[in-house]
Amino acid sequence: MTLSVIALQQTLQKGLDTAAVLTGNAQQMTVEEKTKLIAQIKDELQRQNAVMVAHYYTDADVQALAEATGGCVADSLEMARFGRDHPASTLVVAGVRFMGETAKILSPDKRVIMPSLEAECSLDLSCSPQAFAQFKAEHPGYTSVVYANTSAAVKAQADWVVTSSIAVKVVQYLHAKGEKVLWAPDRYLGDYIRQQTQVEMAIWSGSCIVHEEFKAQGIRDLLKIYPDAGVLVHPESPAAVIALADCVGSTSQLIKAARDLDFSSFIVATDRGIFYKMQQTCPDKHFLEAPTAGNGATCQSCAHCPWMAMNQLENVLHTLRFPQAIELDAALIAQARKPLDRMLSFQG
Ligand code: 13P
Ligand code: SF4
Repeated sequence: MTLSVIALQQTLQKGLDTAAVLTGNAQQMTVEEKTKLIAQIKDELQRQNAVMVAHYYTDADVQALAEATGGCVADSLEMARFGRDHPASTLVVAGVRFMGETAKILSPDKRVIMPSLEAECSLDLSCSPQAFAQFKAEHPGYTSVVYANTSAAVKAQADWVVTSSIAVKVVQYLHAKGEKVLWAPDRYLGDYIRQQTQVEMAIWSGSCIVHEEFKAQGIRDLLKIYPDAGVLVHPESPAAVIALADCVGSTSQLIKAARDLDFSSFIVATDRGIFYKMQQTCPDKHFLEAPTAGNGATCQSCAHCPWMAMNQLENVLHTLRFPQAIELDAALIAQARKPLDRMLSFQG
């Protein structure tokens, strides 16, 4: 076992332990305690001119609070835009570290705080800046396109940053210009882009511990019980799962598909945190978790990202009182901003 795999497992275990403690605490809270906690957070947000920027995978309580206080609940691309354009002086980013770093890169003059700075992402962890530099050196003349789920130090070395909502379009655009593309770090999304564009790319071999657990056979079995259900899949999932999808897309695209597609029920292959927004958007529709059990399942994540689960109301208040701030070097920010700005101004 390599050192990085051991490090990833240790970080994952820490994430699972912390999330279990925090989730346990939240479940033990009485209604009065929760109401008081929410009121305290609202006071702090107002007092500090702060706004919440939350991802769809965070807990329903956190998403509801972000909405109720004028913040946003969004996919990683929209989170980046919202944070950049909002006039607040402090952004409370409820998500994982790369989302906090992206917010800081785009808003260097704002204070960016997070409920937990230990909320990682297996894709980010799989791709160290040193190893990525080596990968680039092995592919001279390639245009490097990295997923948003990477550290600031990896972004700073890339030509382009993309999220899953525009990855296919950007690679098509680069290919049309005759450029050779190097992709990191998600191999499943890389395979999906390759399959959609027919463009050969050099692909890094990272994966998301949540999405790679979804099982095609489990979905086929569920479809026998719910033959009329539509299937929604995030492209970080394995190709066999993607092959069953009625819609493949980023979190926002999946929510839109749930609203627009003519199905009354859906099997959803992405983090179950998204059910809050899907149900809110489509109150009359029925959503089912895509199975992670079955042959080959380890259920490390069981359709919920352990690092996203580290964002709980208690540590939202804690970071407002004892800031867990993202700090990045100014030169790194300037360098990482270039490929991010390219993404944000891409018209596709
Ligand atoms: P989105 O860009 O679709 O929000 O996805 C981010 C993520 O981490 C998916 O696992
Ligand atoms: Fe990373 Fe997967 Fe968690 Fe998204 S769900 S933050 S890709 S580990």
